[in-house]
Amino acid sequence: MHLFTVLYSKLMSLLSRVLMKFITLPAPLVFVGAGSSAALCKAIVGFGHKRVLVVTDKMLVELGIVAQATKALEEQGIGVEVYDAILPDPDFAQVDGGIQHCRKHNCDAVLAIGGGSSLDAAKIIALSAGSDQSPRDVLGFFKVSQRGLPTYCLPTTAGTGSEATMVSVITDTATSTKCFIVDPKLVPSAVALDASLMTGLPPAITAATGMDALTHAIESALSREANDETRQKALTAVSMIFNNLEAAVKDGTNLQTREAMAIASYYAGSAFTITNVGYVHGLAHQLGALCHLPHGLANALFLPHILDFYLDRAAPEMARIAQAAGVGQDTDSDQERARKLVTAVRELKANIGMPSHAEGLKEEMVSELVSRALNESHGLYGYPVPKYMRRKECEEIVRKLLPS
Ligand code: NAD
Repeated sequence: MHLFTVLYSKLMSLLSRVLMKFITLPAPLVFVGAGSSAALCKAIVGFGHKRVLVVTDKMLVELGIVAQATKALEEQGIGVEVYDAILPDPDFAQVDGGIQHCRKHNCDAVLAIGGGSSLDAAKIIALSAGSDQSPRDVLGFFKVSQRGLPTYCLPTTAGTGSEATMVSVITDTATSTKCFIVDPKLVPSAVALDASLMTGLPPAITAATGMDALTHAIESALSREANDETRQKALTAVSMIFNNLEAAVKDGTNLQTREAMAIASYYAGSAFTITNVGYVHGLAHQLGALCHLPHGLANALFLPHILDFYLDRAAPEMARIAQAAGVGQDTDSDQERARKLVTAVRELKANIGMPSHAEGLKEEMVSELVSRALNESHGLYGYPVPKYMRRKECEEIVRKLLPS
C-alpha cells in the first residue's frame, strides 16, 4: 500500500512538473513601501476603472484601515462599494454574497483589503462576478475558462502570500473541509505591500501569520518541484523571517520589520505557488477546519514535527535552509545543521508565544484528521514532499499535539 502511495504521488508530481512547464504564471505589479497603497489606488484609477468593490472584514473597517487605504480612490472620483462580510476562513455563503454585491453595484474591479481570508474571497468574487463560472464550478485545479474582473490586493497580514498566488481557499461548512481553487487566472493584477496598514496587527496574529509565511518558505525549499528561482525566493524569505518575525511580534509599530515580513510573505507565496507545499499544510488544513484554529497557528504546530520526520531524508536541503536562517556553522555536517534548524524553529515558535498543543484536538478526531491529511497530501495533485509518510507515522505526529 505504501509503495503504491509513493509511486502514485511521484507520478502525479511528475505530471504536475510537466504541466507547470506549459503554464505561464503571471506576476502581479508590485508596489512596496509605507504609503504604497495610495500608489496602487492611483494605478487603479489609471487603469480606467469606474467602480471598485472592496472586499474586506468588519474589523478592518472599524480600525479605519479600509478608509485609509481607499482615500486615494475616492479623491479621484472612483466609486467605492464596501463588502465587509468576510470572516476568517471564508465560506461559500460569504463569497456568494460578495458576487451578488459586485453585480448589483456594477463594479468593474475588486480590491481586497485584509488578511488571506479577504484576499482569497476577493479573488473568487472577482472571478465569478466577471464571468459565468460559479465558485463551485471551478473547484480544483485549472478549471477556470474565463477571466474575471481584475483583482488588486492590499494585504494587511504578512503570512499567506495570497497576493502572489494562483490559489484561493474556501471552507465548505457542511463538511468542515477547506476547498481549493487553483488557476493562474487567480493571480492578482497588482498588489501593494504597505507596512503602514500592518502596524496595528496584534502580536498573536503577527506570530501566527509569520509562521505561515515561514512554513510556505520551508515547504517550498524542500519541495521536489523547487527550481533555482523558487529556491532563491524561499531561502530569502526564510532569512528575512528569522531576522524580523520576533521583532515584529514584540514591536508591531516598527515599519522596517513589518515591511521585511510583508516582502518575505510575498516571496514565500511566489515560491510555493509554483512548487506547492507539503505535509505541514496537508495536516494544518484539516486541523484548522476541524478545530477552528487559525491557519498560521495550525502550520506552526506541525512544522517542527514534520521537519523532525524529514531529517533522515532531506538533511542537505534542510542544512541550506538553516544556512539561510543564520543557524549553525559551515563546518557542521548536514545532519547537524538540519537538526539545529529544527531546534531554531522550536525556539522561534516559543519566543513569539506560540503553543505546542492544539486546543480542541481530541483523540477521537485523530483518525479522521489523518485520513483527510493523507488524502490531501497523497491525492490527485499530491504534495512533492522529500519523504513519504505512513498512516501510523502520521497518527504519531498528530497525537503529539493532543492537549495534555
Ligand atoms: P485572516 O485573513 O483570517 O485574518 C485574521 C484576523 O486578523 C481577522 O480577524 C482580521 O480582521 C485581522 N486582521 C487582519 N489584518 C489586520 C490588521 N492589519 N490589523 C488588525 N487586525 C487585522 O488571517 P490570515 O492568516 O491572513 O489568512 C488566513 C486564510 O488564508 C485562511 O483561510 C487560509 O486557508 C488562507 N490561505 C490562503 C493562501 C493562498 O495562497 N491563497 C495561502 C495560505 C493561507
